[in-house]
Amino acid sequence: NKYIATRTHIDGAPQESDFELKTEKFLLSVEAGSNNVVVKTLYVSIDPYQINRMKSFSSSQKASSFAVGITPGEAIEAYGVGRVVASGHPDFEKDDLVAGLVSWGEYSIVKGAVMLNKLDPMGFPLSYHVGILGFSGLTAFGGIFEICKPKKGEKVFVSAASGSVGNLVGQYAKLFGCYVVGCAGTKQKVELLKEKLGFDDAFNYKEETDLNSALKRHFPDGIDIYFDNVGAEMLEAAVANMNTFGRVAVCGVISEYTDARKRAAPSMLDVVYKQINIRGFLAADLMSVYADFISTTVDHLRNGKIHVLEDISRGVESIPNAFMGLFRGDNVGKKIVQIADE
Ligand code: NDP
Repeated sequence: NKYIATRTHIDGAPQESDFELKTEKFLLSVEAGSNNVVVKTLYVSIDPYQINRMKSFSSSQKASSFAVGITPGEAIEAYGVGRVVASGHPDFEKDDLVAGLVSWGEYSIVKGAVMLNKLDPMGFPLSYHVGILGFSGLTAFGGIFEICKPKKGEKVFVSAASGSVGNLVGQYAKLFGCYVVGCAGTKQKVELLKEKLGFDDAFNYKEETDLNSALKRHFPDGIDIYFDNVGAEMLEAAVANMNTFGRVAVCGVISEYTDARKRAAPSMLDVVYKQINIRGFLAADLMSVYADFISTTVDHLRNGKIHVLEDISRGVESIPNAFMGLFRGDNVGKKIVQIADE
């Protein structure tokens, strides 16, 4: 089994030298009744939050389950899709397709089959079940509808809008009837948002010297909903431009993950006087909307109403670069690594 591990705890942006490709030998079999399942990974998800698990934690941070640390040298758990090669669990058989927590490697032993589910591809490519029909889709759908509670015609701003979660937030909000503006880090991404994904407008935040006036220009009547993927100064500028009773869904703060000096400090006076609701959330707590998310998204896919944006690399060796690319803005859409042929 070849797999990717970290060499040390990571501080700042991840680098090639932080990772190593390791090889181990294990039997592709399990004891009957062990409840363990051996899964061959086909597609694995590459997610920004993993960087937070790779840091060295203080004991207070360790108390947060989201931040369960990754031990250098050990296999790194990640969401993915695979095929069962051996099962000691009554619910799984050899050759079953599964989705759940596997690892950044060729094979995983999923102890007790924890968080492993049989996968019905529903006629869609398997990679969709890592992205649009997986956690990215649920995060976008639940984040915009359950956390932000949009009304038709409201003005929505999305950051990291060409990313995995962001592009779907914008598309769902547009299909629902909102006015949507996104920001992204290159001209090509901005064009894609406007030309292909149906955003009303988009801008390259790297070309703006003053984010506050950029948002004023794009939202002369103010922002009703800000879906935050990046934090720091973008969150501050968005709060300064929010309307009364505006909602901010804090999905993630990627610009703060690799820079300990960056911490959003939005004007709390604005928050009070404009009665803004700023709310963080985790996809894992959005399971109440899961059935609605799947049926709505499958409908949109079958009717060609939603565009699937995937960015797939190949081979376990490509994982570190795929991961580092998230923090450089290399990816367009959901970053996935295909580990093996289906
Ligand atoms: P993306 O596909 O959006 O990839 C990351 C993107 O972020 C990059 O492509 C880049 O695009 C942008 N970015 C990177 N560094 C910076 C920076 N310093 N400032 C501004 N933008 C930056 O990743 P995901 O869609 O998977 O995740 C998006 C956010 O949502 C993350 O913060 C993530 O942690 C969070 N998340 C939260 C979940 C939850 O349950 N709450 C679940 C899933 C994700 P660009 O070219 O625009 O710079």
